Parts: sequence; C-alpha cells; structure tokens
Amino acid sequence: MTEEQRKKFSLLIVEDEEAILAGLIDLFVYHGYVVDSAKDGNEGLRKAATGHHDLVILDVMLPGLDGFTVCNEIRKVSREQPVIMLTAKTSEEDIITGLTVGADDYIAKPFSVRELVLRVEAVLRRSKKARHQEGKITLARSWELDTQNLTLRMIESSQSPVELSRREVDILLYLRENSHRPVSREELLEEVWGYARASNIETRTVDIHIAKLRRKIEENPKEPKHIATVRGEGYRLTV
Ligand code: CA
Repeated sequence: MTEEQRKKFSLLIVEDEEAILAGLIDLFVYHGYVVDSAKDGNEGLRKAATGHHDLVILDVMLPGLDGFTVCNEIRKVSREQPVIMLTAKTSEEDIITGLTVGADDYIAKPFSVRELVLRVEAVLRRSKKARHQEGKITLARSWELDTQNLTLRMIESSQSPVELSRREVDILLYLRENSHRPVSREELLEEVWGYARASNIETRTVDIHIAKLRRKIEENPKEPKHIATVRGEGYRLTV
C-alpha cells in the first residue's frame, strides 16, 4: 500500500500498556495511518461503536471490559468492522476465544512490528475489496447468500436466515468459486485473509473459522455435508 492509500484509513488502537500503546501509535502514524486510541475496554467500545474506524486493534487484557467482551459487543453493532486482537503468545485458549467472539485475525504478543503492519494491510485490503462484491448469490443450489446483508438463507425453507460475519461470507464465496477442487488452508489464508505467501502462516485461524461456519450451516457439524474436509488437502464446498 502506498502512503496516499494508508492516509485514507483510520485505526483505533485499544491498549492499556502505555509503552506498547505509544509504540503502536508511532508505528502506524509513521506508516501514514490516521490513529485514534483508547486505554480501557469501555472507552475502546465507545469509540469503536461510532463506526468511524476502518480497523480496530484490540488488546485482550484491559481494565474495565476485556478485549473479548469489547469484540463481542462490537459484533452486535457491526458484523463488518474489521478487528485484530492482540493475544498472549502462549495462550491457545485466548486465540480461539478471540476468533470465536468474531475477531478477523489475531497477533500474538510479543509480536513482530513488521508482521503486525502486514496483517493490518491485509485486513484493510480485503475489507476494501469486499465492498465491491455486493448482491445475492446462489450457493450449493439450496442456499441464497446475501453478500450485502451478510446472511445465508435456505431456499424453500421458512427458517430465518443465518447471520454471518464478513469473513465467513468471503470464505464461502472463495470456496464456491473453487468448488470443483479442494482448497488448502494456506490458499485460504492467502486469498481470503490476504496474507503474503512468505508470512508466518497460521492455519489454525482457518480451522476455527470453518468450525464456526459449520456450526451455523451444517445439520450435524461433526459430519459436515456442505463444507467437507478433504484429508491432507483442505476444504471443499460440495454442491
Ligand atoms: Ca493489556
């Protein structure tokens, strides 16, 4: 991304540790972003709820509301708002909880500054792209995917539509485009998350998102019929 493009993006950083917050503000201002900040969960939520930020970087351990609660509350207001969580490196549980409450991505502390900048750029690139593909699309013959309202509805069913996150919609769209073959986790990370091939690949992020999608759309998530696992190869949307 060029500096001109970055200037159009505004970030909200929610972090209570002064030194880390100051470092992150410097980093992103240096890279040309407009940066806003909050030092506790309540202030973070209040600012995030305005919807004025293109991306929220959210620490887990915060005074007041913790990062998970804040993310969960943000999701109640907006399923579109991109959120990256800062988790503790050693805590797998934190990572899973973060993705389950609706974070788009996470980065573990202590993180590499370069990696964080790349993740932010990837999330912003994707969310910009997402705004261009709007409409209703038929999926696996029996569903209608509404890419604008982020819902999935069974055609010929009176059940109310399932609500999806933007990321879940993007995963389904990508699997649909490639439904003639299995799609690997690495490919999903590159194409849906926008990670560079060289970046540190975190395939667990993909698995957690797929598990969440299956819980929403499969009759029996343990024996998925729609998003099938192809052993050793990846995932495939079956028609
Ligand atoms: Ca903290």
